[in-house]
Amino acid sequence: MKAQNKLADQAGEPRPFTPDDVAAQTRLVKTLSQRAEAVDAELERAERKLERFRASLTPKQRLAKKILESPNSRFVFSSPTGGTARAGFEAIAAGRKAPVAATGRPTDVQISLVRAVAAMVDHGAVLINCLTNGKHSDNSNHYKGKAVDLDLNSPLGSTAIEAIARQHGGRRNFRLDHIHLDFL
Ligand SMILES: [Zn+2]
Repeated sequence: MKAQNKLADQAGEPRPFTPDDVAAQTRLVKTLSQRAEAVDAELERAERKLERFRASLTPKQRLAKKILESPNSRFVFSSPTGGTARAGFEAIAAGRKAPVAATGRPTDVQISLVRAVAAMVDHGAVLINCLTNGKHSDNSNHYKGKAVDLDLNSPLGSTAIEAIARQHGGRRNFRLDHIHLDFL
């Protein structure tokens, strides 16, 4: 506006904007920039809060979150006997014990198991059928948070799955119809 008034002065024409126009515009610009600053400050506060929240998670919670957020974790199996593997990982991510439908007693889950599954989803897609959910043999390691069942159709493949499990102290058992891994 000031520049346009100046141009008009130079051309000997009447100024297009009155001092009031200029003052009003200046106030508006000032208000808008103050609002933008307030939004920036608010954003910064939210970001710091998020950082603090992330830092407050335990390594096991972070791993469980990573598994849940990975496009490579597939939870397609729904066990007729109750619960889902996803609910187990969600409980871990929230810092709680995983629910065990078969016994009704929630259990801690071995961190090596969570670490192994997190490493698997880094390498490829896995179909996670059972963590602490489902019905297994009496006294099953699933009920103790020490076993996980992966589907044979997991795109990552059983060879890679077993190799990654072994790196984290996991072992496949004798079952051939699915990949049962124990972490003792
Ligand atoms: Zn199993």
